[in-house]
Amino acid sequence: MAADYRAGVATADITPKEPVWLSGYASRTRPAEGALQPLYAKALAVEDKKGTRIVVVTTDLIGLPRVITDVVAARLGKEHGIGRANVVFNSSHTHTGPVIRSNLSTMYNLSPDMSAKLDVYARDLTENLFQVAAAALGQLKPANLRYSEGTAGFAINRREAAAAGVRIGVNPKGPVDHTVPVLVVSGEDGKPFAVLFGYTCHNTTLTGEHYKYSGDYAGYAQAELESSMPGTTALFVILCGADQNPNPRSSEQLARDHGRALAEGVKAAAAKPGTPVKGNLRAAYQQIKLNFRSHTREDFVKESQSKNRYEVNRAQAMLKAYDEGSPVRTTPYPVQAIRFGNAVTMVALGGEVVIDYSIRIKKQYPKQSLFVAGYSNDVMSYIPSVRILREGGYEAESSMIYYGMPGPYSEDVEESIIGSVKSVMKRVGIK
Ligand SMILES: [Zn+2]
Repeated sequence: MAADYRAGVATADITPKEPVWLSGYASRTRPAEGALQPLYAKALAVEDKKGTRIVVVTTDLIGLPRVITDVVAARLGKEHGIGRANVVFNSSHTHTGPVIRSNLSTMYNLSPDMSAKLDVYARDLTENLFQVAAAALGQLKPANLRYSEGTAGFAINRREAAAAGVRIGVNPKGPVDHTVPVLVVSGEDGKPFAVLFGYTCHNTTLTGEHYKYSGDYAGYAQAELESSMPGTTALFVILCGADQNPNPRSSEQLARDHGRALAEGVKAAAAKPGTPVKGNLRAAYQQIKLNFRSHTREDFVKESQSKNRYEVNRAQAMLKAYDEGSPVRTTPYPVQAIRFGNAVTMVALGGEVVIDYSIRIKKQYPKQSLFVAGYSNDVMSYIPSVRILREGGYEAESSMIYYGMPGPYSEDVEESIIGSVKSVMKRVGIK
């Protein structure tokens, strides 16, 4: 079979070498206690006949901040000629991985010793991410790609209406998307050697009382695929699952079960002929600014008197910004499109993006097959839609405290992001 592309994959073990604090749940009281599974960073590099190259980096981590991804992307540009638009970094959002500086900056009051360990981890991670991408680029060999879809049913909408407002629970009537997009990469012998797949769900089967490193359901799905398809590297991309949880949750067995269900969805998709990918790779990247709702210094003077230590942490950070003459009014926000020929496009959005965005973007492009990924290139906060901003709750408001953000986004957030998506899609030739 003649090859239309060249592709390469690489894997790096990024499990912390010593026990550090786990991220994602404010309720934790101590560092990690061993590992259920190793944590990995993986990279898939693809090159078309014109020599255009794409690198997809996936990680079993809570959320990579731009202070890390920008450094890795700049070095890939300098040493390998990869443009910023042509590399994407996705974080699986496992809640049983290490704290990543400076993600969720006000969630923990860490000792100086733990802070120092986490700084070392972030520094090593920056090197590891570069090395895994470079290794994938170094392995390029003739390849064919095809796209197909499967399903997995364990994600449920978690925004439950209650007397005191929307809380995190289960909402069987809320929107979900059980599609599993799958990109299969095969060698000239026709055998797959990489499979890139996505799912729209928080990676939170394991709740705050779990203290062992793991990739949660996504880690188990990747492990299951790699053991049942020998010679294949499985890479997981989390989609717009910010308001979705695995259901049920909170035990190791359930994380394994959900992982197996997702792996079955991937295998069923991979067994179909799918759509062969033909044509050039194209990529576009744009950094926009998202506006916060207006605030005053007084708001944070008041909040600094709170009995809630997370609010106090946030208030102190905001007062510092006011005192330095640069109150936080906006945040940078990355939007990216990576088009795999005629067959599938990855729209990669920063932050914890709620499902309304992927539903809207899929409606906007009904003829396109899409991975609409969240948690890409930077994870600065939740990204609510206008609907969710108006309804309130964790994804709209209270999560912003843990992210050290001044407060909710202003209601133009959704149109700003959709406008930018249209712009990057146009630049990759999709109207
Ligand atoms: Zn989250």
